[in-house]
Amino acid sequence: MARRVEVRRAALAKNAELAARNRALFQAKGIKAINLLSAPGAGKTTLLEKTIRHLHEQGFRAAVIVGDLATENDAERLRRAGAPAVQIATGTVCHLDAAMVAGALEKLDQELELDGLDFLFIENVGNLVCPASYDLGEDLRVVLFSTPEGEDKPLKYPPMFKSAQLVIINKIDVAEVLGFDLERARENVRAIAPQAELLELSARTGEGLEGWYAYLEQQLQSQPRS
Ligand code: MG
Ligand code: ZN
Repeated sequence: MARRVEVRRAALAKNAELAARNRALFQAKGIKAINLLSAPGAGKTTLLEKTIRHLHEQGFRAAVIVGDLATENDAERLRRAGAPAVQIATGTVCHLDAAMVAGALEKLDQELELDGLDFLFIENVGNLVCPASYDLGEDLRVVLFSTPEGEDKPLKYPPMFKSAQLVIINKIDVAEVLGFDLERARENVRAIAPQAELLELSARTGEGLEGWYAYLEQQLQSQPRS
């Protein structure tokens, strides 16, 4: 047991070192890097499709790194939306780590000029547990949950929510039919993640997306976190 703890600690230390390198690269290139986290099916890819289209219309440049255990499906969806996208197939690994992101950045660098990028979205593997422990070098962590998952998601997965700068409640268009109690969900977010801003939206219908877009543009103007 002690041995296993030791191995994990060493892996996280190594990850922190590589994350710092990614972060330095993002700062040097003026890229706002956003780590997007949720359970499977919460709507990360749909949100990114809409976001990519919007940002392009506004003249911003965005690219995506997507993690899934298998398939290129999400990267293909995001390419169709107009963004250069690199898929990382993690196999049996249930999170992205800083080394995987560094590898994907090298691939992206062959496709486009990283210096010209405004946003890099990193769609993490759908999982609310261990991705919380892996810093990727991102500027911002955005944690999503959706109304079909229930109001108590933040209560069940505190470390993930506590690590977020922004929490998004998605699929609010179906909240009512599902009997989802929005006020209780807000209270749960505030209780577990008082540090985080909160946005409510439907990536599918577009309701609330202006707030998310405004948030992103604000981030470009603010200084990177050190
Ligand atoms: Mg996805
Ligand atoms: Zn994992």
